[in-house]
Amino acid sequence: MSSGTNLREIAFARPMIGKEEKDAVERVLSGPILVHGDRCRQFEADFASYTGAPHAVTVSSCTAGLHLSYFNLGLGEGDEVIVPAQTHVATAHAVELCGAKPVFVDAESATGNIDIDRIEDAITERTRALSVVHFLGMPVNMDRINAIGRKHDLFVVEDCALAIGTYFNGVHAGLLGDVGSFSFYPVKHMTTAEGGMVTTKDSQIAERITRQKAFGVDRFVGERKVPGQYDVTMLGYNYRLNELQCAMGIEQLKRVDGFLERRREHYGLLEKGLRDIGEIGIFESSHDEYVSSCYCLSILLSEELSARRIEMIGGLKARGVGTSIYYPRAVPEMSYYAEKYGYSEGSYPVASMISSSSIALPVGPHLCAEDMQYIVDSLKSVIFEVK
Ligand SMILES: *Cc1c(COP(=O)(O)O)cnc(C)c1O
Repeated sequence: MSSGTNLREIAFARPMIGKEEKDAVERVLSGPILVHGDRCRQFEADFASYTGAPHAVTVSSCTAGLHLSYFNLGLGEGDEVIVPAQTHVATAHAVELCGAKPVFVDAESATGNIDIDRIEDAITERTRALSVVHFLGMPVNMDRINAIGRKHDLFVVEDCALAIGTYFNGVHAGLLGDVGSFSFYPVKHMTTAEGGMVTTKDSQIAERITRQKAFGVDRFVGERKVPGQYDVTMLGYNYRLNELQCAMGIEQLKRVDGFLERRREHYGLLEKGLRDIGEIGIFESSHDEYVSSCYCLSILLSEELSARRIEMIGGLKARGVGTSIYYPRAVPEMSYYAEKYGYSEGSYPVASMISSSSIALPVGPHLCAEDMQYIVDSLKSVIFEVK
């Protein structure tokens, strides 16, 4: 056990909020416009320019953006959507919220991404859309996904919650399918406290989602010649992002390249340090046309170590090292889905294995290179302890 004086405080994640964000929020608070203002338009323009997206629409969360992606399609009862079994529950909930049925597909063990070889077996005549998650920021092979999408006439949705800085074949995530939805939740690559962004190449989708995130009105606030003069032409939600959040987002986006650089550097150091530990495996990361956003470094424990995972997490915590699990349970094994659709444990063995035997280690920009060495040393001592 390391001595008390050497103990480090290594949080799994910490939002990087500086003077720029605070000043920007303060300026909004000093003015009269809290929603429907210039910050929203600017954040959308900046995000579009950063990713290369023809259209970017702010939304209140990634989940809201995913929901709108299906809502704008008019998806409903009787429709099915292919959803990865290993993901955040939001990826499936967005389908469920429209009354459609998520049909799960297992993960591949090399990356944690959807097992593309298993997708076609899950497609039926009711399948309308195909969703993917760039797992922990590692891009899915979207050439193969789009080929399946075209063959079966499916709408392709990318869950980009952890994919700012993710590229496949030089194209930013969120522009590889029909729509992408990003998250600005506090632990993600950049934050607006809560928030999200939808990207698309299709102007009609962008326009529909823009209206559907704001009650389905036919005229935006700035377009109304007479205040209050508008009609409602479709059903819609209130899924807007306010000016305080957009002001934060504008500042965070200016810093995101720096954040990504630190993540990649930390990931590289951690990966190098962990390479010689025989009892753990590491997912594939960036290579060739696959550029990962390096959200975290998730290790896969041997069967023997998996049985001691709780103790290992406790041992790391005792040394000040914060960890997480991505994701704690395969979605079809969550009670809501298991009970509703009758999935039994082990129906998605790879997704279950990732949930039950991984530990996510931090690489965020709140940490430094020495922290990475400390994590490696701590993990080695913890493994020695529990064996
Ligand atoms: C965090 C996360 C979400 C949810 O994002 P919110 O902005 O909180 O709605 C969705 N999908 C994935 C893969 C996530 O990691």
